[in-house]
Amino acid sequence: MQKQKLKAVVLLSGGLDSATTLYVARSQGFDLHALSFRYGQRHIHELDSAARIARAAGVMRHVVLDVNLRAFGGSALTDDIAVPKHREMAEIGAGIPVTYVPARNTVFLSLALAWAESLGATDIFIGVNALDYSGYPDCRPEFIAAFEQMANLATKMGVEGGARFRIHTPLIKLTKAQIIKTGTDLGVDFALTSSCYDPRADGRPCGACDSCELRRKGFAELGLRDPLER
Ligand code: ZN
Repeated sequence: MQKQKLKAVVLLSGGLDSATTLYVARSQGFDLHALSFRYGQRHIHELDSAARIARAAGVMRHVVLDVNLRAFGGSALTDDIAVPKHREMAEIGAGIPVTYVPARNTVFLSLALAWAESLGATDIFIGVNALDYSGYPDCRPEFIAAFEQMANLATKMGVEGGARFRIHTPLIKLTKAQIIKTGTDLGVDFALTSSCYDPRADGRPCGACDSCELRRKGFAELGLRDPLER
């Protein structure tokens, strides 16, 4: 009899990092359950990318949840605040940028945990990265460790089932170039991904926001061409 594969819930924004994370989970033999959010982001276009990536990776199921964080605002991604453009790398790495969305990863991971427990899955993947976005407090290893501990205290599976939830962060210590290399080796089609915080009306990247700058730097360091650059 064939051994049943373990299920994993993977947070999939549609960006380069989450696409690579999805393929890392696939390479580890998990049955993939991809989770995306329509959270009032100005770059809603990324959800089309998420759907294409999920299809390409052969996920069992892709769920897009509506959680309108724009009702709260407080971020350049969910409010009428301009997205910073043309910033130097030193600037990007310093402080918490206005593109930080209040408690976003706490909200997203909580919903991923709810789905995981419903599925009987203990493995959750998130493509956070502590190097390039050192400013985001909810991308730090300390946050992930604290969330994991909370997940095991907060769930029936953790308390009664003897299950141990794990939050996997395969990219947390990688540079953008290392992430692109990892994704390339695993067969990610980066033409399907979308990284820009403030894309044009037709969905093409702005080329100047922090996310576009980091993406460009990552491909340049590898001597590769970004398939989105035309
Ligand atoms: Zn951009």
